[in-house]
Amino acid sequence: MVSQAISEQNPRVRILGIPVDRITMDQTIERLEQFVAEGTPHQVVTADSSGIVLAQSDSDFFEILQQANLVTADSVGVIWAAKRQGEPVPERVSGVDIFARLCAKSAEKGYRLFFLGAAPGVAETAAERCCLQSPGCNVVGTRHGYFPEESDEVVAQEIAAAKPDVLFVAMGMPRQEKFIRRTRDIIKAPVAIGVGGTLDVFSGRVKRAPRLVQKLKLEWLWRTLQNPKKISKAKNLPIFVKMVLSENKRD
Ligand code: UDP
Repeated sequence: MVSQAISEQNPRVRILGIPVDRITMDQTIERLEQFVAEGTPHQVVTADSSGIVLAQSDSDFFEILQQANLVTADSVGVIWAAKRQGEPVPERVSGVDIFARLCAKSAEKGYRLFFLGAAPGVAETAAERCCLQSPGCNVVGTRHGYFPEESDEVVAQEIAAAKPDVLFVAMGMPRQEKFIRRTRDIIKAPVAIGVGGTLDVFSGRVKRAPRLVQKLKLEWLWRTLQNPKKISKAKNLPIFVKMVLSENKRD
């Protein structure tokens, strides 16, 4: 029901077959609050161009993105592609920003948050720092993200016992989206969202960009230049551009 309501309220643009919601950051938070109020499981994806390229050769991941309840535009490439198709998205809605906003909402409304992912100790430090930043932020559990897929169900049972309203999974794409899809009916969190390297950022392991760089909305570039894995992911950007241009030519 809610996903139908969303597509009525927020038109979606299809980029290489992936539906992306044309939604602002404020509207995203409103939708997530609706999901929590509704109480049934919802999957949220923050899509970047690298993820969309990945989905073209991974049919399971493609299907997950198709079925997600909310897909936000989380890269300059996705924003460019939407604009090029004449259906612009209003702004970038990143996992890091959603995470910060929901931590503040948790302090205000008591939402139960669970942080899953990153190396041992990182989620705990991120929780401590979030509680300092947003006093009253209700983190009901944390767990590192280094476990084999065969353990997904066991980990899911552990998380379900904490009864989170919002589950953040910070294990990188597409592992985090596949974990959420596979365990959705065990954990039953009203909002489950993949947030990539966000716990590294909030734990202080990865430094945030200087304020000016954040203001210029260039934090993604700053983080890319500091992380060799991200530089290799950035190589997907020209592939994405080529795919979008050739898809548009076919239309
Ligand atoms: N990670 C994890 N389990 C794994 C592999 C990676 O928890 O099996 C974590 C890793 O420690 C890092 C995050 O997943 O904190 C991925 O961050 P990255 O910035 O690469 O993700 P992106 O935002 O680019 O998807």
